[in-house]
Amino acid sequence: MYDVEKIRAEFPILSRQVNGKPLVYLDNGASAQKPRVVIDAITQAYSHEYANVHRGLHYLSNLATDNYERVRGIVARFLGAGSEDEIIFNSGTTEGINMVAYGWAMPRMEAGAEIILSIMEHHANIVPWHFLRERQGVVIKWVDVDANGALDPAKVLDAITPRTKLIAVTHVSNVLGTVVDVKTICAGARAKGVPVLVDGSQAAVHMPVDVQDIGCDFYAVTGHKLYGPSGSGAIYVRKDRMAEMRPFIGGGDMIREVTRDTVTYNDPPMKFEAGTPGIVQTIGLGVALEYMMGLGMDNIAAHERDLRDYARTRLDGLNWISVQGRTPDKAAIFSFTMEGAAHAHDISTILDKKGVAVRAGQHCAGPLMDHMGVNATCRASFGLYNTRAEVDVLIDALELAHELFA
Ligand code: PMP
Repeated sequence: MYDVEKIRAEFPILSRQVNGKPLVYLDNGASAQKPRVVIDAITQAYSHEYANVHRGLHYLSNLATDNYERVRGIVARFLGAGSEDEIIFNSGTTEGINMVAYGWAMPRMEAGAEIILSIMEHHANIVPWHFLRERQGVVIKWVDVDANGALDPAKVLDAITPRTKLIAVTHVSNVLGTVVDVKTICAGARAKGVPVLVDGSQAAVHMPVDVQDIGCDFYAVTGHKLYGPSGSGAIYVRKDRMAEMRPFIGGGDMIREVTRDTVTYNDPPMKFEAGTPGIVQTIGLGVALEYMMGLGMDNIAAHERDLRDYARTRLDGLNWISVQGRTPDKAAIFSFTMEGAAHAHDISTILDKKGVAVRAGQHCAGPLMDHMGVNATCRASFGLYNTRAEVDVLIDALELAHELFA
């Protein structure tokens, strides 16, 4: 049984008030709150078990290394990777995608080489490719979504030409909630010899993910959205692609030997993890993923489907709200605009007065905003601890905003 009240009690911040009202936290798409077990693990690590990893031969260094390295297996299990050696730790999705851009794509993408992106991508999965466009003449090909925000896998595959070197696509849109059929994209791309990078930042939070079943080459996740610490993250890189990738950042820990004239590298995945990593962040990430798996990813997904359906029905009852992204099986992420002059920022300010935290703006998705013809939206994004009663508070607060701005 999924006991949401019991779960809520495990997140200390959820019992606080904001502006004199109980907090209704609906900004999970930006970052999720942390359960007590994660906060305690961070305190424990710094209070009793901290030292640098991989370096010392002393007790605390070995302990910290064990605690840190054990997370590789947890991430591998969470993502369904075949081996923990296919998991590279990093500070989050942005670093993960940049690592692929610099380490894998840059050396293989000459002028005129093409990369296919969906119009829904987050800037983290756009700007690194713009770097390659600016610096070496790579061509970015965009695939649009339809009026409901659906991405047709056939359109993505049709965009492949002999010059296509990579498809980089999100699994779930951070703006529309659209769930992309990445498995079909990967199967079709593989048949044509084109690798696929999947941005899993928003997907891995809401649904079970199995990278082997999806058949992708790269899958990036970010810890702070997964109820873990900010500054933690990981990328799955399939073994064959890891062998093709060159290191992106050089420094300690990623080398085997350095002399005046030569350098030899550590084995992957360490080869891609230069310098002192986010030791405690990663340990916290491991605890967060174990927490989610303990609740059960299927159970979390079912709870959020219920919230999604309830929120959709209630929002549809407000005929002065337009929801962007209307695919039936979307994640519980709702971007919307209000009829009339009210700017998204003004709406979110009114909601904040009622204790309701949402995000307003472009959501780091400029091309999608252009495509939709809006300059900003409000976004309510739900997490594993949200409730139907919180949807009701959101609706009441929106009604107040409408009265004020109409
Ligand atoms: N991709 C998507 C779809 C996202 O929602 C985000 C975070 N908003 C990112 C990438 C970037 O994640 P981070 O800022 O944690 O690197």
